[in-house]
Amino acid sequence: MTSKPGDRVKVTTKDSVKEGILMPNQETSSIVIKLDSGYNVGIDNKKIEGIKIIEKYKSVKQTTKKESKKDSKKPTISILHTGGTIASKVDYRTGGVVSKFSPEEILEMFPELKGIANIESRLISNMFSEDMRFKHYSLICKAIEEEVKENVDGIILTHGTDTMGYSAAALSFALENINIPLIIVGSQRSSDRGSTDAASNLIAAAKFITGSAFAGVAVCMHENTNDSDCLIMPATKTRKIHTSRRDAFKVVNDRPIARVNYESGKINFLNNYAKKSKSDKLLIKDNFEEKVGFLKCHPNMFPEQFEFFKSYKGLIIEGTGLGQAPVGNPNELTKIHEKNLKAIENVAKSGCVVVMSSQCIFGRVHMHVYSGAIDLQKVGVISGEDMLPETAFIKLAWLLGNFKKDEVKDLVTKNLRGEINERLLEDEFLG
Ligand code: GLU
Repeated sequence: MTSKPGDRVKVTTKDSVKEGILMPNQETSSIVIKLDSGYNVGIDNKKIEGIKIIEKYKSVKQTTKKESKKDSKKPTISILHTGGTIASKVDYRTGGVVSKFSPEEILEMFPELKGIANIESRLISNMFSEDMRFKHYSLICKAIEEEVKENVDGIILTHGTDTMGYSAAALSFALENINIPLIIVGSQRSSDRGSTDAASNLIAAAKFITGSAFAGVAVCMHENTNDSDCLIMPATKTRKIHTSRRDAFKVVNDRPIARVNYESGKINFLNNYAKKSKSDKLLIKDNFEEKVGFLKCHPNMFPEQFEFFKSYKGLIIEGTGLGQAPVGNPNELTKIHEKNLKAIENVAKSGCVVVMSSQCIFGRVHMHVYSGAIDLQKVGVISGEDMLPETAFIKLAWLLGNFKKDEVKDLVTKNLRGEINERLLEDEFLG
């Protein structure tokens, strides 16, 4: 029988024996196998003395819900899966990373979880998070509502890391008075790799749920490149700021809630936090206005870029610095900027709520300092304070989906879920 990509093989050469998964490979002069450590090695065909198939490639079937036998002395955690790298492995047929693992397989891979709590798991979707739409937030809310009714002690939501910050913000707005911990967990390396961060992030989240009285929505990811500590980070103040590092998530304009040592389970609280309260009843407000836009300012902008949003109900402008947009006219080359200001005024007058955030990411928008931003305020642009642009976008869509226009304009500048920090401290900058 000849080996095919995806098969587990043992390859013998004159100097070594290597075992791993046979990868697809365009080269005809060599083969590539993925070792259990996650690394790929190429082996020159000329050196190969034999290839033995250890196990043929098996495709994975998906199921929906699994409950294992409960230990009444242990708390119960429900793991809801939406997909992402944490639920992925390399598709050995195509060579790409695809969403593949079922909830059961993830549990089997990380058996420590069952020692921490009774684990129930359920698949909501199996997708990469760049494909999330507002309607998915509603699906997730429904699943969470059902788990809360079943009196679980906490929920872990697995999610792709790319738009995890948006979903974390969306859920913290939509799930009013959630009285249990909802911890959102992802991974930067797929769960089939030796270097995966899935295990530590999941275990830290589970230990945080069982070892604390925290209630609310938070993100749990690696603190640094050591494999020991994970951070519990505030849902509306956390952003992915690195494409590939396992410590890609940083808290912006706030502090992490807690540090969890994933091996010992030791929890150090680093900030104030809301605690579980029996009197809090979950209220789901999962309407998000669909027509909300996001526009990044840059040199050489044209009025039509702003005018485009006239038919929208909300617009987040990601301005420069303190909340600037190209609306000043300092010399003959900038005449068009008067039209930019007029275009923004037209958008605001058309009924679209326009909010300014800053592409600096850290710090606060101050629109009273420079004349350009003062003009922007005059034509109706509202300051987004120190909100992350992504959080401001989700908040605006949520407000427009649940409140009247005048209330939206008022509430957008008020702190509702920790998204606005009234007093920024020195150590809240990459501290
Ligand atoms: N782009 C994918 C996602 O966000 C994979 C990245 C990840 O999960 O870390 O779902």
